[in-house]
Amino acid sequence: MARVLVVGGGIAGDSLALMLGRAGWTVTVAEIAPAPRTGGQTVDLRGDCRDVLDELGLLPAALACLVPQAGAAWIDADERRLAEMPVTAFDGGGLVSREELLRTDLARILHEAAGPNVTHRFGETVDALEDTPDGVLARFRSGTAEEFDLVVGADGAHSRVRALRFGPEEHHRKPLGLAHAWFTLPERPGTPPLDGWFLIHNAPGRRSVAARPGRPGEQEIGLTFATDTLPPRQDREARFALLDRTFADVGWRTAEFLAAARQAEDFALDTFDQIRMPSWHDGRVVLLGDSAWCASPLSGLGTALALRGAATLATALTATALTAPGHLPAAFAVFERAMRPRVTSAQQLPPGRLASVAPETALGIRLNAFAMRALQARPLRPLVRRAMATTEHGRTPSGTPSAA
Ligand SMILES: Cc1cc2nc3c(=O)[nH]c(=O)nc-3n(C[C@H](O)[C@H](O)[C@H](O)COP(=O)(O)OP(=O)(O)OC[C@H]3O[C@@H](n4cnc5c(N)ncnc54)[C@H](O)[C@@H]3O)c2cc1C
Repeated sequence: MARVLVVGGGIAGDSLALMLGRAGWTVTVAEIAPAPRTGGQTVDLRGDCRDVLDELGLLPAALACLVPQAGAAWIDADERRLAEMPVTAFDGGGLVSREELLRTDLARILHEAAGPNVTHRFGETVDALEDTPDGVLARFRSGTAEEFDLVVGADGAHSRVRALRFGPEEHHRKPLGLAHAWFTLPERPGTPPLDGWFLIHNAPGRRSVAARPGRPGEQEIGLTFATDTLPPRQDREARFALLDRTFADVGWRTAEFLAAARQAEDFALDTFDQIRMPSWHDGRVVLLGDSAWCASPLSGLGTALALRGAATLATALTATALTAPGHLPAAFAVFERAMRPRVTSAQQLPPGRLASVAPETALGIRLNAFAMRALQARPLRPLVRRAMATTEHGRTPSGTPSAA
């Protein structure tokens, strides 16, 4: 029976684990966090997300967690609307859709669906991966070592498996020039309601502050700004100080959000990067999801690619017996052939995407709002629909990041 180690129990890792487990493989998932990771904003169910969850029989569970949404609105510092894009725009194909759920809920659904063949080891990661005649010896941080037939690196954009096997992150990382902080804000008496709207306030100097609906009684907050580098992850104070400095003079609810960020359990801050690699496999080690091809949250396709990638890899791996000669190289070739065009397409951000997320000047902010209104004007609608039809899996025309 095939023994697989999946490093990283996120969307990609947990979906692959559940698929291989259902096929009778024995799967160990090593997840560095002490428990399943929560946090993250909404995931768009359109396209591949919906299709793969449907194939897994998990669509009803996902649909039961939808976040009620009204649409996206660009606002000034006094919360006056500069532009709106309701969920009905483009026949439901606009920036925000009616079918979105929180990443937290999707991760939980996938995690809970893992069958008896899947074992999770939390608070665990790999320190070394050594080739043996018949497999890969994984040396774990906890001090144990174990041999596997196959190792999958599904440990996100800052992948350790990729660093161990394919070289340092700088060799594969393409920074996009923006960083993004996100966290959950519990509503208190006096918290301004969103009424289902994803509100976006842009400030000159490439800064954007956004609040979108989350679970009942919660709002999901995002702060986007221009930089390629951040203080080290462990230096929390330097990271908060950077946010405070960057957003000090931004109006609307920004001061409230900066104070709340320090209290948030799920606070996260990262640069928007893409990961570009000529090949995703080496011997018996293969990368999956953001670790292989992160398209950045700006693509709106990270989760869709993770789910489709897991389904494609699982199908390729289980098509023939693992012991068949040449099985793994053949399976990896099928996987790469199928996923490479999707990834290449997702990594080509639409023209103006970065400028639209965080315009440089006050004029740029007004022009962006004008563009959002103009795109929805009757004469342009057919053109936009046609452009959207040519972009795979319902990518949205513009706006701020989503975890889709
Ligand atoms: C908590 C969280 C919140 C997110 N929020 C958003 C969001 O709001 N918007 C957005 O666009 N994208 C977000 N993402 C990224 C998004 O989930 C991915 O782009 C997409 O779903 C692809 O999934 P993935 O499984 O490849 O990567 P991820 O979902 O990032 O999962 C990677 C997993 O690997 C684990 N891991 C990391 N390093 C190691 C290691 N050394 N050893 C073992 N395990 C490791 C992580 O803890 C995580 O569970 C978030 C990711 C996480 C983990």
